[in-house]
Amino acid sequence: MSVAEDRGPLTAARAAQEPGVRQILDRVREHLQMDIAFLSGLTRSAEVVLATSTETGPMQMAVGDELDLDDTYCVRVLSGLLPPVIPDARRHPEARDLDVTHEMGIGAYAGAPLRGPDGKPVGMLCCLGQGANPLLGEDALRVLGLAAALVEDHLGVPGLPHRPAVSDRVRRVRTVLEREEIRTVFQRVEHLGSGTVVAVEALSRFDPRWFPTPVHAFAAAQAAGCAVDLEVLAARRALRHAVRLPADVRLSVNLSADALLDPRTEPLLLAGGGGVGVELTEHTPVHDYGRLVAVTDRLRDAGVQVVVDDAGAGYASLRHVLRLRPTAIKLDLDLVRGIDADPVRQALARAVVDFAGSVGAWLVAEGIETPAERDALLDLGVHFGQGYLLGRPGAWEDALGDGPFHRDA
Ligand code: C2E
Ligand code: MG
Ligand code: MG
Repeated sequence: MSVAEDRGPLTAARAAQEPGVRQILDRVREHLQMDIAFLSGLTRSAEVVLATSTETGPMQMAVGDELDLDDTYCVRVLSGLLPPVIPDARRHPEARDLDVTHEMGIGAYAGAPLRGPDGKPVGMLCCLGQGANPLLGEDALRVLGLAAALVEDHLGVPGLPHRPAVSDRVRRVRTVLEREEIRTVFQRVEHLGSGTVVAVEALSRFDPRWFPTPVHAFAAAQAAGCAVDLEVLAARRALRHAVRLPADVRLSVNLSADALLDPRTEPLLLAGGGGVGVELTEHTPVHDYGRLVAVTDRLRDAGVQVVVDDAGAGYASLRHVLRLRPTAIKLDLDLVRGIDADPVRQALARAVVDFAGSVGAWLVAEGIETPAERDALLDLGVHFGQGYLLGRPGAWEDALGDGPFHRDA
């Protein structure tokens, strides 16, 4: 995930003027029994501390501090290199070796992103403790997610001046579930050499006044405690189209590990017949890899493709790749963006190409926007792709047509 752009919608001035923000930070700090809670904004070169809890304990941190992006936990969490909750940093296999763990004396960490209108992270709400904190678990993640949504509401987000309050969005999610207010759009995946469509990915759309992107809807569902219900509903709506699939074209749906483990999901996917695929990302942490592998093994045996989504976005997705023996791997769009002009992205893609070849998985690049990106990917040995250049998410007929289409979702 790219955090290198200057998104700048969170400023210290606005955060400091908002007493409500400090109250939220104080409550979160107390509730999670940590030494400090703070709000940070991401700029092109740094993570800037915008507000802190009134109490900061022994942690040396103040408003205006700039943390080097390469050194922070937050950036690692956003890119999937660290989990969002670390009860014992000195024993965590990645966290314990980081300089910042020793320099700041971090014993425990928890963080949740603040998102802008496009769903991309613009800052973080984090807590730090000097000692280990065994209380930190999934609950902490839910509390922080809700607190981050409340801070978003307090600060407002440019482009969405009348964004509904978080409590309204949580209520709205329940209405979406009751009335099944989900629209499914489809994006073609094609063989880059010939332009032949090989698959369509189903993506969910909601009333944009409430949920401008699906990421917002699933985040609200998480806060409402019904994320899996929403995912299962989205998959069920999408899979109704499986009967319309032409031969040799797959229909893939997105599911988190939690949703894939839900008892309703497997029969749903199996009923879709051999033309179905499931795209897995680690939006929620995986607690039971044994069960997950058992499900993906059964699905694969029944002809359902297992796709690891967002590879290259971080450590979590690579763990999937190793354990789940996927039929296909999707290169994350941040790795694809500008790949024609960026030797680092090319080297990373080359490594994934080698890896995919060695585990016998197809490789699909997502987010291809320019002919130069497509050509660079072909040169690197990536033969399948998806992106606005080839077709935007849209109607079923358009996704399956001869393209290219540039229809808005
Ligand atoms: P994803 O599965 O990685 O989907 C790819 C995202 O990239 C989609 O965003 C798609 O519209 C966007 N995209 C495709 N081509 C391009 C391009 O050329 N340039 C750029 N900039 N973006 C491109 P979308 O639809 O907003 O979905 C975001 C994420 O939300 C998805 O990421 C997926 O993780 C999740 N999601 C969407 N629908 C569902 C759903 O029904 N169920 C679940 N569980 N997750 C969903
Ligand atoms: Mg996907
Ligand atoms: Mg993806």
